[in-house]
Amino acid sequence: MTDTWIPVESVPAESAESAAVPQERRIVTAVPGPRSQELQARRTAVVSAGVSSVLPVYIERAHGAVLEDVDGNRFLDFGAGIGVTTVGHTPARVVEAATAQSRDVLHTLFTITPYEEYVRVAELLAAHTPGDFAKKSVLVNSGAEAVENGVKIARKHTGRRGVAVLDHAYHGRTNLTMAMNYKAMPYGTGFGPFAGDVYHAPSSYPYRDGLSGAEAAARTIGYLDKVVGAADLACLVVEPIQGEGGFMVYADGFLPALQDWCTANGVVMIADEIQSGMARTGAYYASEHFGWTPDLVLTAKGIAAGFPLAAVTGRAEIMDASHPGGLGGTFGGNPVACAAAIAVFETIEEEGLLAEARRIEATLTAGLERLREKYDIIGDIRGRGAMIAIELVGSGTAETSKTPNAAAVSAIVAYAAQQGVLFLSAGTWGNVLRFLPSLRMTDELIEDALGVLDDAFASVA
Ligand SMILES: *Cc1c(COP(=O)(O)O)cnc(C)c1O
Repeated sequence: MTDTWIPVESVPAESAESAAVPQERRIVTAVPGPRSQELQARRTAVVSAGVSSVLPVYIERAHGAVLEDVDGNRFLDFGAGIGVTTVGHTPARVVEAATAQSRDVLHTLFTITPYEEYVRVAELLAAHTPGDFAKKSVLVNSGAEAVENGVKIARKHTGRRGVAVLDHAYHGRTNLTMAMNYKAMPYGTGFGPFAGDVYHAPSSYPYRDGLSGAEAAARTIGYLDKVVGAADLACLVVEPIQGEGGFMVYADGFLPALQDWCTANGVVMIADEIQSGMARTGAYYASEHFGWTPDLVLTAKGIAAGFPLAAVTGRAEIMDASHPGGLGGTFGGNPVACAAAIAVFETIEEEGLLAEARRIEATLTAGLERLREKYDIIGDIRGRGAMIAIELVGSGTAETSKTPNAAAVSAIVAYAAQQGVLFLSAGTWGNVLRFLPSLRMTDELIEDALGVLDDAFASVA
């Protein structure tokens, strides 16, 4: 019975292990099954239609790389709650740390009476974000809130108002971040008016624009110089690998060239590492792959294995720009979320998860290369670590060979779900299939999922 209250003291130390879900794919009912359908009917009566679900199977238990629903179906999870359960679902260290912290203190509000866990998370962020200089952090609750605070801090530091972002970017669902997104639908349409002084600069999209990093950077900088004007620009916010935009990896040299321009012009350059950070790409932060040392780094999703926590971390002199009391919020840096985050850092370190991300990249990209030889609608394979995507395009002739193929992505996602594999889509045109598993996804499970993917491609071809 899920509504039976269990006193915390009775939870055994190995609770995370005893809750373990077998690491396998298993479909025992139609998808969604009868119990999920009942819950869906209840949900429809009381949950806003504005909140939708990719796959309305209701999850009862999750562990490692597998989700188990209320009908007993088990799904290989290639979404990880959009890159949140990077260290796996219900990881033992995190569950135990959060449980222990829950007994000690649930909340005081750091801006009233502080506690050590917040300070420890800030120390870990200072140690693991790119750059060898003094760093400070502020902790908040969500990715969008981290973006908002990064912009606040950059504005206060520079005394300027302008905020620049790149085409195909995604930064959140609050009023400011809606204005920073590329895609109107579904994030912005009908929800305006939006915040002003947000500028959308051209990006780098090697598969489609054919530009070198230097050429793409010159185009971006030309726009910032002429259309915005450096004198009014507080910050340039960039995802080192774009998430919702389709796991875009920019041409080599693009990011360092933008950072050089920002530094020369007094613009704060901010890495939105909300999806790409926290070991997901085989480095703590994806910026490292591209020789980019940002001024500020935004962390969220994977930092606490599912507990809501986010951070702005960066150069101490920029982070200290705000007057005391200018930053904060009721729940920001909650003690239980901080204890979970500390355990996430320990888990990455002690269980060698950076190497696991690189293993996943090798197995997954090799399998996807094999599929590309069979299916010409796979136009591009890109990403790093456990953040890999394929861009699907038209089949056959030169004219259709780069036409975005969203229909194939939808069909493949639907087919795989029926077989017990959860894939997510992405991309400005919805034509990108992304693989964002936890770092617990074994090679055996990846090969199993690739088999399902092969069948799914055959069914669309
Ligand atoms: C998810 C995401 C956000 C927003 O984070 P929330 O926690 O959903 O507010 C911002 N930027 C990127 C790159 C993201 O992937």
